[in-house]
Amino acid sequence: MDTILFLAHTEADGTLGKAALEALGAAVELKQPINGTLVAAIFGAQAKAAADFIASCGAQRFLTVEGDEFSQPRYATDAAACEALIRAAGATIVIAAATSRTSRVLAGVAHRVQGCVDTHVTSIAAVSGTITVTRWFYRQRIEGSLTRSHRPWILLLDPGAHAAWQGAAGSATTETVEVPLPDALRRTTVRSVVTPPADQQTIRPDANLLFVAGAGWTKKQKDGQTHVPEAETIILDFLRNSKASLGGSKSLVDLSGENQAALPFMGHLNQVGQTGASPRHPKGLSTCCHGEEPHTVGWRFIAERRAINLDPNCGWARGKADVLYVADAFEVMTKVNELLAAK
Ligand SMILES: Cc1cc2nc3c(=O)[nH]c(=O)nc-3n(C[C@H](O)[C@H](O)[C@H](O)COP(=O)(O)OP(=O)(O)OC[C@H]3O[C@@H](n4cnc5c(N)ncnc54)[C@H](O)[C@@H]3O)c2cc1C
Repeated sequence: MDTILFLAHTEADGTLGKAALEALGAAVELKQPINGTLVAAIFGAQAKAAADFIASCGAQRFLTVEGDEFSQPRYATDAAACEALIRAAGATIVIAAATSRTSRVLAGVAHRVQGCVDTHVTSIAAVSGTITVTRWFYRQRIEGSLTRSHRPWILLLDPGAHAAWQGAAGSATTETVEVPLPDALRRTTVRSVVTPPADQQTIRPDANLLFVAGAGWTKKQKDGQTHVPEAETIILDFLRNSKASLGGSKSLVDLSGENQAALPFMGHLNQVGQTGASPRHPKGLSTCCHGEEPHTVGWRFIAERRAINLDPNCGWARGKADVLYVADAFEVMTKVNELLAAK
């Protein structure tokens, strides 16, 4: 019988993040069809409070690792905590959200516990009693399903791929797991966290909306001139007002990289598409982007799609968008910004 371990770290404020609750949702769902046992393990600041938050999830045991050393993301201490928790639980299946913190350590931890690991998992199910996971290959063009007999099997579930667990908080009976920490593991000190200001932090995986800007924002407009500074203001205002995540077409991010007149806040990490990212958001709005296949393939996980383009024959009109507004994006988005500002 498999022992499923839900493994998570707390966020800076001591709560469990959305991605962690999604991983818990997947772990809880798997328990019954494989007749397995569920154990919850949490490390980081205020791990006990986080265990209380998920007290009604049906876990048989709640294991925690707490203490100053584990409140900051650091390879050595995170890996030591995960290893100790997996061993203490006797876990055969480990399900964790693919956060930057877990993604960094769990391959190494798999090696330490002589297990195996699969990353970018998008679903976990029991098919005829056999645990089967799916993930995408070849830039999200081929979906593969796989199973393994090797244990422990560590699974990093991509954020947004499963519904978040919901349930009542309570009082969990926790077991503190001691993690041996020789001095060598404390060599790295976290001095501070440097993050860009909010309006420069344009990639927001948890945003409700993906706002994509295409190269059209930098092209000559009906007056025969380009309007890049205006485009910059319109897009940044919209991002500030809507808290949307910013994506870009390849043509636009390439322009930025080549130091041409382009949008300075747009980099290659914003690129959506075949050679870019395939983000997950409930809604997407494309502006001044033609909607060619290599771009729209990156919209695979966007549920509701809308586009604004001057060209009624653009790619979005050919089954790629739910709604295409044939309109000038400069005018439409200026109006949208006015409405948002007035709210
Ligand atoms: C191997 C390969 C991989 C690729 N990978 C990617 C990828 O990962 N991501 C990606 O994006 N592309 C990718 N491409 C490139 C892709 O095929 C397109 O060239 C690119 O997406 C075009 O970008 P665009 O639509 O922003 O620009 P354009 O094709 O220049 O389109 C600009 C659009 O803006 C519209 N427009 C202009 N002004 C306005 C206005 N005022 N209001 C409304 N609309 C306006 C125009 O009508 C036009 O449709 C790849 C190509 C290849 C060959």
